[in-house]
Amino acid sequence: MNADSAPAPADCIFCRIIAGEIPSDQVHADDRVVAFRDLQPQAPVHVLVVPREHTADVRELATADPTLLPHLVAVASQIAAELADGDFRLVFNTGAAAGQTVMHTHAHVLAGTDQHESTT
Ligand code: 5GP
Repeated sequence: MNADSAPAPADCIFCRIIAGEIPSDQVHADDRVVAFRDLQPQAPVHVLVVPREHTADVRELATADPTLLPHLVAVASQIAAELADGDFRLVFNTGAAAGQTVMHTHAHVLAGTDQHESTT
């Protein structure tokens, strides 16, 4: 755990996916992030890019490990190129009032032909 990040809640669903305790349709993994398809896709390609280390949201991540953000964007771009035509939206819902429901930092990568219709 980084000194600037809070301990992960024991029931964090994304920590459990990263640990392999809950199955996921994984499309990318490296030493810093894991990416898997969203359970309820809002676009033809809807992938979540999730840092392995638990932080609650991108505000906390930006303080705890700012070098991770450009890596996360690079992974999102790679996924959009591999699974769609290369164009994508990158969405961080940040805080409950902004629609964040899983309190482990994640980026939604939305790609494919009707990505512009997504409300995520
Ligand atoms: P948020 O609303 O927090 O920005 O996005 C959380 C996303 O996680 C939602 O789009 C939801 O469909 C997805 N999600 C929630 N639980 C699971 C799960 O167990 N597996 C997968 N693959 N996605 C999940």
